[in-house]
Amino acid sequence: MNNQKLAVLVLNDVVVFPNNEVRIEYNDSFEKASIDYADSTEDKYLIIVNPIDSNYVVDVTSLPSFGVLGQIKLKLTVPNGKTRVVIEGIRRVEVANYFYQDDFYQANIKDIFMESNDDEKNYYNLLMKSLDKYIEKTPYMSNAIISQLDTVETLDELCDLIGSFLPVDYEKKKQYVLTVSPVERAHLLIEDMNEELKFLELERKIESEVEQEIEESQKEYFLREKLRAIKRELGDINSKEDEVESLKKRLSKLKCNYKVKEKIRNEISRYEAIGSHSPELGMVRDYLDWMLHLPWNIYTKDTNDLVKVESILNTSHHALEEVKSRILEYLAVKQNTNNLRSPILCLVGPPGVGKTSLALSIANSLGRQVAKISVGGINDEAEIVGHRRTYVGANPGRIIQGIRKAGTANPVFIIDEIDKMTKDIKGDPASSLLEVLDPEQNSKFSDHYIEEEFDLSKVLFIATANYIEQIPYELRDRLEIIELTSYTEYEKLDIAKNHLIPRALEEHGLTSLQVQVDDDAILAIIRYYTKEAGVRELDRMIASLFRKIVKKTLLEKEQVFYHIKENDLETFLGKRKFSYETTGKKNEVGVVNGMAYTAFGGDILPIEVTMFPGKGELILTGSLGEVMQESCQIAFSYIKANAVFFAIDDAIFKNDIHIHFPEGAVNKDGPSAGIAITTALISLFKNQAIANNVAMTGEITLRGRVLEIGGLREKVIGAHRAGIRKIILPKENKKDLEEIPDELKKEIKFTFVENYDEVYQKLFKC
Ligand code: ADP
Repeated sequence: MNNQKLAVLVLNDVVVFPNNEVRIEYNDSFEKASIDYADSTEDKYLIIVNPIDSNYVVDVTSLPSFGVLGQIKLKLTVPNGKTRVVIEGIRRVEVANYFYQDDFYQANIKDIFMESNDDEKNYYNLLMKSLDKYIEKTPYMSNAIISQLDTVETLDELCDLIGSFLPVDYEKKKQYVLTVSPVERAHLLIEDMNEELKFLELERKIESEVEQEIEESQKEYFLREKLRAIKRELGDINSKEDEVESLKKRLSKLKCNYKVKEKIRNEISRYEAIGSHSPELGMVRDYLDWMLHLPWNIYTKDTNDLVKVESILNTSHHALEEVKSRILEYLAVKQNTNNLRSPILCLVGPPGVGKTSLALSIANSLGRQVAKISVGGINDEAEIVGHRRTYVGANPGRIIQGIRKAGTANPVFIIDEIDKMTKDIKGDPASSLLEVLDPEQNSKFSDHYIEEEFDLSKVLFIATANYIEQIPYELRDRLEIIELTSYTEYEKLDIAKNHLIPRALEEHGLTSLQVQVDDDAILAIIRYYTKEAGVRELDRMIASLFRKIVKKTLLEKEQVFYHIKENDLETFLGKRKFSYETTGKKNEVGVVNGMAYTAFGGDILPIEVTMFPGKGELILTGSLGEVMQESCQIAFSYIKANAVFFAIDDAIFKNDIHIHFPEGAVNKDGPSAGIAITTALISLFKNQAIANNVAMTGEITLRGRVLEIGGLREKVIGAHRAGIRKIILPKENKKDLEEIPDELKKEIKFTFVENYDEVYQKLFKC
C-alpha cells in the first residue's frame, strides 16, 4: 500500500484504534467530501488522523505523521439529514505527505515495519496482569471486550484493545494511537491502568460509604412512607400539601401578635421546603404543633361576684373558715387594685387537708380553666423553661405544657410540691420558677423551646407545699402563705358527713335512701382504718365501702337498705388496721412520750432509755438528725450538772446510757424533744415511771430553760388521737392554745412551763 493516495478524515474528538470500529455521524462538507471520496473507491480505504492540537487545524502542518488506515463498512443517510458511517480501523500507517485537493485533505501513506523483540513478550505478560486486576475491579466490564481478549495475539493488538476501552480522555487516547512502539504504548497503558485502579478503589470506597448512608436514609424514608401510606389508608393524614394548607388555615385563625405570626409563617415555609425524609421535618412539625395550639390571647372572663365565689368554696370545703376568708380577701384585693405586684398564693399543710381541691374550687368559682403541674423532685431548670430546640427530643417546659392543656392564657395554675424541688449542677429550678411567678417579669415569659414571649401575667398561680421551711427562701419571700392544718377527728367526721359521703354516694350511683352510715361507724373508720392528717384515706375508705355495697346490691338483685353501723365495718372493710390509742398499756421506767410533727400530721414520739455498766458513754439510735443528737447531749449534761437537785447518785453516770427513738428507720430531727429526753433519763436514773397518758414537747437549754416549739396544733391533735390526756408545753406556746379545737381542750389537761424544774416538780414530786 506504499505511496497509495488516500482521503484523510480529520477527527477532532474520536480516536479510531486498529481492529476497532467507530460510528460517526456528520454533515460537515469537509468530512463529507473525504468520506464520499473514500466510499467511491473500490477498497473504501481512508486514513484517519487526529490533529496535533485538537482545537486548531489550519494546514497540513497541524496534522500528525501517523494515522490509522480505516475502511468504510457502512454508509447511510439518517432521517435528520446527517450521514452515518461505520469505519473499521485496520492498522497504523505513516503519512509520507499530506496535500489538499478537491476540497479535502489527502495523503500518501507508508506501511510501518517494526521488528518484534523480547521486551514485547514481557510487556505482554505485564499488561495482562494489570488487565486482570483491572477487570477484577470493574465487574461491569462488557463481555464483548473480554471475549475479544481471546483473539488477541500480539502486544500491539493487546495495547490497542485496551486503549480502546480504557476510560481515559481523548488526549490520552490520541497519545496511544500516536505511540507507534507497542512496548512504549504498553508502558503508558500499564501506568494509566494503575492510575485508573487507584481511582476505582477510591471510588468504590466512597461509593460504599455513600451507599451505606443512602441505605440508612432510604430505609428510614421507606418506613416513613409506609407509615404515611397506612395512615393515609386509615384516613389519619392527608398529603403534605393538605397539611400545610391546614397549618396555614389554623394560623389565620390564631389570635397571636404579629411577631409570633411571622415566626409561625416562616416555620411553615420551612416545613414546606424540607424533604419528606429529612429528620428535621418532624422537629419543625412538632414546633408548629406547639405554636399553633398555644392559647395566645385567649382569656376567660372572671366572675367578679365574690359572694358566689364564697358560696362555691363553702359548698366544696367544710370548715377552713380562716383559710377561705384569707382567699376571699386576696381575691378581693386583686380584683380591686389589679395590682401586678400582689403575691402568689401558697397553700401549706400536710397531705390530704384540701390544698389542691381548694385551688380547684377557686378556679371553679372564678370560672377559670385549670393547669396543674408538680415540681416535686425537679432538679433541672429545663423542666420549667424548656429545652432549646436544638436538643434532640426537645420540648417546652412544664409551664407552657400546663398552659396548652388549660387552653387559656389566664387559668388558675396549680404548682404542687413547691417545697420538694432540688438544686444541683443542672441549675436551680427555684430561680426559674421565680421568673415565672414574678408578675413584673412574667408578661414576657420566654420558654427556651417556644422562643417567642408568652404573657403569663393574667395567670392566677397557686402553689402548694407540705413544709414552709423547705420552700426555697427566695420563693417564700414572694408567696402569700396560707396554712392549712390537720383535722381533728370530729372535723373529719363533719367533712365525711357533709362532703365525702354525699359525693361518694353520687359517684357510686347510690342515694341516702339506700345507704346510711352511722356517725359511730364513720368515727370508727377514722380511728381504726386511717392514720392521717387530712381526709384522703378516709375518702378512699368511704369509696371502698360504697363499692362493696354496690356490688352486693347488684349480686343480690334486690333493693335493700343498708344501715352501716360500727359492727358492720369488718364485713365491708376487713380487719381494723390501726389501734386507736397507741400509748403503751403499762407505765414503764425510762419510757416517755415526746410529740412529733410528721408528713402525716402530729403523732406521739415515744423515747426509750436504758443503761448498763460501761464507761459513761451516751449511745444514740433511731435515725437522729444532728440537732436531735445535740438535744440528747444537752439533756444528759443538764442532768449531770444538776444531779444533786434531782437527787441522782453520781455513780450512775459511770454506766453507758442508750437513748432510742423507735421506728428507727424514720428520720427524726429538731430540738423539740428536749424536755421529753430529759424526763426519760431522770425516770431511768430515779427508777420512777411516768404515766403513759402524759406527753410533752419543748426545747431545753443547758440551764434548763424550756423554749417555744412549732406545729402545736398538729402535735396536740396527734397526741389526743394516741390517747394522751395530759400535755406539758413551753409557756411561750400558751398563745397558740386558741388554735386547738375546743373539743380537745375539754379532754386534755395542759401544763405550761418556763423551766425544767417545773416539769420535775410536776412529774417526780407528786
Ligand atoms: P392536698 O392537696 O392537701 O393533699 P386534696 O386537696 O387532694 O389534699 O384533698 C384530698 C381530698 O380531701 C379531696 O377529695 C378533698 O375534696 C377532700 N377534702 C379535704 N379537705 C376538705 C374539706 N375541708 N372539706 C371537704 N373535703 C375536703
